[in-house]
Amino acid sequence: MNFDGIMKYQEKDMELNQLQNDFNNSEVCVKNRKATQALEFSKKNIDTYETEIDAILTKYNTLKQSVESINEELSEFDDIIASSETIADIDFYTRKISELQDKLSQAEKELNLSASRMEEINLEYNKNINLQKQATVMFNETTVQKNELKNQIMAKGKPIQAEMMEIAKTVDQRLMGAYMELKKTKAAKYPLAASTEKGAEFCPKCGIDLEKEAVNILKSGATFTQCSRCHRILFAVE
Ligand SMILES: [Zn+2]
Repeated sequence: MNFDGIMKYQEKDMELNQLQNDFNNSEVCVKNRKATQALEFSKKNIDTYETEIDAILTKYNTLKQSVESINEELSEFDDIIASSETIADIDFYTRKISELQDKLSQAEKELNLSASRMEEINLEYNKNINLQKQATVMFNETTVQKNELKNQIMAKGKPIQAEMMEIAKTVDQRLMGAYMELKKTKAAKYPLAASTEKGAEFCPKCGIDLEKEAVNILKSGATFTQCSRCHRILFAVE
């Protein structure tokens, strides 16, 4: 079996891969990813704060209403006490007033707590709104630049892909199939195909001892084998 084709194919494949890596690691792509993350982060916080603000506003309004109604009740008792004639009546209403005043001070305390929590949230909420604004500007700017860069990269990649298609025609189909299969796996590391000397007993890339069958294949040199650990395609050269 001839292995020149697959090695040429791999060379081009690695060039293409390098182009993709250069693109992914480019300043504009890194900035774009950061902007995306900041957008997601601020959006999540804003949603959380909005939910909390709604809950506090509802609670605040309920408390405010109850403070108002207690105050109303209290002002009525003032008149009642003024017109009360017996000690028992005065005593009864005085206790009533005292109960209402306790309720009032409790409600006012909660009202103040709600108000101060609201201030805290507002600060955080505004911070996140600003972050979202900045991230949106950054995202929009870098997306335009990213697309320009992508077009440049694709223009560079196209002739390489065309060459690869031509080379693939010259490669043994089973060998090409094994290469493509390996390329699909996430753990695959370049080089996917590697040469070793005839009769080699270990993988030239990951170093593991090869199984007997694989050693025999490498001895005969007639075809290729794959490492049982790193799955690389291995073939022997004289
Ligand atoms: Zn290996």
